[in-house]
Amino acid sequence: AYGSIEVICGSMFSGKTEELIRRLKRAQYAKLHVEIFKPAVDKRYDDRLVVSHDSNSIPSTPVEHSSSILLLSNDTQVVGIDEAQFFDEGLTEVCVNLANKGIRVIVAGLDMDFKAQPFGPIPHIMAIAEHVTKVHAVCMQCGAPANYSFRTSTDTKTVLLGEKEAYEARCRRCYYNLTNY
Ligand code: ADP
Ligand code: MG
Ligand code: ZN
Repeated sequence: AYGSIEVICGSMFSGKTEELIRRLKRAQYAKLHVEIFKPAVDKRYDDRLVVSHDSNSIPSTPVEHSSSILLLSNDTQVVGIDEAQFFDEGLTEVCVNLANKGIRVIVAGLDMDFKAQPFGPIPHIMAIAEHVTKVHAVCMQCGAPANYSFRTSTDTKTVLLGEKEAYEARCRRCYYNLTNY
């Protein structure tokens, strides 16, 4: 089989995890061997489950370092990775390795951090992927399609694990507070 890399990216609440779960469950219906990973730092809902904001879920293996994904993907046909922005830069090479072994790799993660800067290994993986899907949330200020994660909390560290109390999805106009249109 030919392997490939797919990226699902967008802001918080944009449906990345929903779309990842949808693709992975379809692969399971096709009786393919699927393995799902998430970074061990992400324990917001559950230690092992990947959970969407709509409470859809799928079992996963939490790993500290991207290299573990390679070690744990023997005999796998489809690999799903959620919250991929929290992984080390080695994740790019891991995805290439897996795809070159014939594995379908589906990577979901934030394309930008709360400062609207490219986030972790996601931009690199977007560049080398066969398929990139940007999904959009609904702007919490005006209802337009949103692609930014606006931090409502005053904490300034890049990684602040949080949810609705700390972030809201915003469109360009509301994120940058533009008034010229
Ligand atoms: P992500 O993984 O991108 O954070 P999820 O797939 O976990 O997103 O959650 C998407 C779900 O979040 C939507 O189906 C919807 O039920 C809910 N949701 C909450 N806030 C918003 C918002 N501002 N825009 C869109 N969906 C939202
Ligand atoms: Mg998610
Ligand atoms: Zn808006």
